[in-house]
Amino acid sequence: MGKVTNRSKLEIAKAPAGLEGPGFFAGKLEDLVGLARKNSLWPLPFATSCCGIEFMATMASHYDLGRFGAERLSFSPRQADMLMVMGTIAKKMGPILRQVYEQMAEPRWVLSVGACASSGGIFDTYSVLQGIDRIIPVDVYVPGCPPRPEQIIEGILKIQELTQNESFRRRNSEEYKKMLNSYGIE
Ligand code: SF4
Repeated sequence: MGKVTNRSKLEIAKAPAGLEGPGFFAGKLEDLVGLARKNSLWPLPFATSCCGIEFMATMASHYDLGRFGAERLSFSPRQADMLMVMGTIAKKMGPILRQVYEQMAEPRWVLSVGACASSGGIFDTYSVLQGIDRIIPVDVYVPGCPPRPEQIIEGILKIQELTQNESFRRRNSEEYKKMLNSYGIE
């Protein structure tokens, strides 16, 4: 019975500001697309070590990422819009990660999960990349070694905020192109 009570607390996504009446809703296209994108992110899990195990817990029934509309994992970069990098990235792996990023279509977002992906973590050695933002741009960092599933979910909620509020023009802006160019990405 407890579950039924919880279910009654579920809310559907809030509609953006607009005009509504019986049988119609009118709003800004940007807001409506933002709402759809926010609630239907397709993650690409690039998991290389222990942080990946926390991600598995995040996907499983207790934490259930499906509650945020992001349960449809993609192992094809062309069918994903949120790259989740989880684990230690060796320098040898760097070009592969970058290729995966480049193969994703715009708009794409990157979540760096855990200390290793964000900064190399405890592996301050010649063979480990000291943060994936040395090779690809990152939108949100999740701290921790490893971060708990709640922290990973928090990171995804931050990405959702970005997706909902992003302007259509951002990806074509000079500023965005300059940022990509600074990574050597055309
Ligand atoms: S941050 Fe910690 S838990 Fe995550 S991959 Fe690195 S060593 Fe493992």
